[in-house]
Amino acid sequence: MSAEPEPRRHVLVLGGTTEARRLAEALAGDPAYRVTNSLAGRVAAPVLPPGETRIGGFGGIAGLAAWITAHGVTHVVDATHPFAERMSFHASEAQALTGVPLLALRRPGWTPEPGDDWTFADSLAEAAGLLPALGGRAFLTTGRMGLHTFAHLADTWFLVRSVDPPQAPVPPRLEVLLARGPFTLDGERELLARHRIDVLVTKDSGGSATAPKLTAAREAGIPVLVVRRPAVPPGVAQARSVRAAVDWLRAQD
Ligand code: NAP
Repeated sequence: MSAEPEPRRHVLVLGGTTEARRLAEALAGDPAYRVTNSLAGRVAAPVLPPGETRIGGFGGIAGLAAWITAHGVTHVVDATHPFAERMSFHASEAQALTGVPLLALRRPGWTPEPGDDWTFADSLAEAAGLLPALGGRAFLTTGRMGLHTFAHLADTWFLVRSVDPPQAPVPPRLEVLLARGPFTLDGERELLARHRIDVLVTKDSGGSATAPKLTAAREAGIPVLVVRRPAVPPGVAQARSVRAAVDWLRAQD
């Protein structure tokens, strides 16, 4: 009996997103690929993709570069969330150190449609500065990690939706809703109405799983405060879809 051939490629997928899981699923079953999914460990019970999974930081740029070299990684796909800026920077620096090719997988951002009332901010801090002028009952969907940025807003009531409970400091007037997408349009309509929301705060995460809140806000005539995404580090190859990422990997021979 002949032994199974060794995979020719070892892809390190920096994850924490739906796209990262979809990429792992797309490569699963192809004997040419070994996939290691990397998660930061922020979510208590993450949805695990197929392939191997490692959890926790690498210990900065040097740690990531050392991991890539020690584990024979042939390609890195940075499929982290568009707002995981530090990890994306580290991946870019690790590419420079190791020479192992890097692809940034970034789903397209959202664009306003007729009827939308969007205000853009370049950071959570800028959003916190703009918020009081837009409304007094905010639906905050920017994640629990940056919640401290809004903690000083004592006059605003917040409905905060996050996967895991936030930690102090948090705004004094808030209700926390623990939930993980995808979310439905009916559900979002109901939330906005029940809590008498008059402003929605979101990152420009893109994708369909959390987009219904934008439709619900448009229908209700509620303004949306959109935090723009940070740029992908210069010189890093980019794919906008899982399909394009798979094509990039297959073209690497
Ligand atoms: P970040 O600020 O860019 O990264 C901070 C540190 O966390 C990194 O330096 C790295 O630690 C570690 N890290 C981040 N992503 C990692 C990964 N996939 N595997 C191993 N270590 C990772 O990241 P963040 O914004 O806190 O996001 C953390 C995770 O949550 C990411 O995986 C991201 O995809 C996911 N996520 C983020 C958001 C968001 O809005 N930021 C939303 C949804 C999901 P070391 O320096 O020790 O390597």
